[in-house]
Amino acid sequence: MAGRVNESRVVSLLGATGSVGRSTLDVIERHPERFSLAAVTARSSVGELAAICARHRPRLAAIADPAREAELTEALRHQSPDTRVMSGEAGLAEAATLDGVDTVMAAIVGAAGLAPTLAAVRAGRRVLLANKEALVMAGDVFMDAVRRSGAFLMPIDSEHNAVFQCLGAGGGAGVARIVLTASGGPFLRRDLDDLDAVTPDEACAHPIWDMGRKISVDSATLMNKGLELIEAHWLFGVASERLDVVIHPQSIVHSLVHYTDGSVLAQLGNPDMRVPVAHALAHPERVESGVRPLDLAALGSLEFESPDLQRFPCLRLAREALESERTAPAVLNAANEEAVAAFLAGRLRFPEIPAVIGEVLERCETWDASDLDAVMAADAAGRRLATERIGARGRG
Ligand code: NAD
Ligand code: MG
Repeated sequence: MAGRVNESRVVSLLGATGSVGRSTLDVIERHPERFSLAAVTARSSVGELAAICARHRPRLAAIADPAREAELTEALRHQSPDTRVMSGEAGLAEAATLDGVDTVMAAIVGAAGLAPTLAAVRAGRRVLLANKEALVMAGDVFMDAVRRSGAFLMPIDSEHNAVFQCLGAGGGAGVARIVLTASGGPFLRRDLDDLDAVTPDEACAHPIWDMGRKISVDSATLMNKGLELIEAHWLFGVASERLDVVIHPQSIVHSLVHYTDGSVLAQLGNPDMRVPVAHALAHPERVESGVRPLDLAALGSLEFESPDLQRFPCLRLAREALESERTAPAVLNAANEEAVAAFLAGRLRFPEIPAVIGEVLERCETWDASDLDAVMAADAAGRRLATERIGARGRG
């Protein structure tokens, strides 16, 4: 076990203005002697990004939308004059690979996170991965880049962070099965006939977690758990048959590892992303995260049940994509991003999300997934077909 890490960790935070970004800032601010922020990025929220810069004085701030660069430069002239401003893909890539940064928190949502996250991996950084879509799309390419560069990959997704902790120093020896827990989202007990009329705000009102809108809808359809099965396959090298999902509405047990001798290790904690964020930032040490201690006696009981695949067809679609071993996961992810965006914009009804994704997967060609160009072609084809299927439903 390594001793006390004396030098402070220098962090680049991709997606600083999001939900995971805010949890990361909270943990960093609790330990200014341990963590400092060198680079931050956002898509378009200039005001929020400038406020973060005023507090942390990073060397670089990158805004993905090039049209907002001048506005950010102007805001920082007063609030953080030594922060360099960049924009677009080049800005995100620079933030991901900035000299002197040792730790990159990849917390951009969706496929937009793939290029900068992969750049951080190729630069051999410690990469704390929240952006599961990057791994779902390009798992083969991504893990190959990790092996080649020697980057250290730490999962931030609470389930995968839990599995990482349960695997401990054993490195996977004797693992029989990995079980991911799922809260079941806001519609676990909703009458199936009512799902047709649910609104984006109802779908985003998660009973436990306060997250960005895209992952909130994914949690309501359980596509989030489907994406997480694919994520677990790549992170831990475990085949689909040895990956299970169990519904656990309280979200106290974050996941479990079954060993061949019958031992089962689980990681528990109050549901707050600052737990996995603090774990990954400080690893192999432990730091205070601001999360209140778990009180099992106050909780009384923990409940578990099997997922209902009729209620949650996205879970079945994701497992089928995982098992196809080609570019199907990239197609699944692209179709899901388009369908969720259409639902959030009022152009698709909730049960049509899995319907569109199923139609796209049936129609879309797949290729060998070991090549990034094939992955990007699959992503583009998935989006094209999804847009067409959404349009065919007549509300576009
Ligand atoms: P969010 O919507 O709250 O924040 C997303 C961040 O990405 C923002 O900073 C936004 O500015 C940036 N962004 C969005 N689109 C972009 C683009 N096109 N280019 C550059 N930047 C862009 O999302 P979130 O809930 O924080 O989730 C972030 C990632 O973490 C997702 O992949 C999600 O699946 C994963 N995750 C989130 C949670 C959670 O509790 N929120 C838990 C586990 C995993
Ligand atoms: Mg999760």
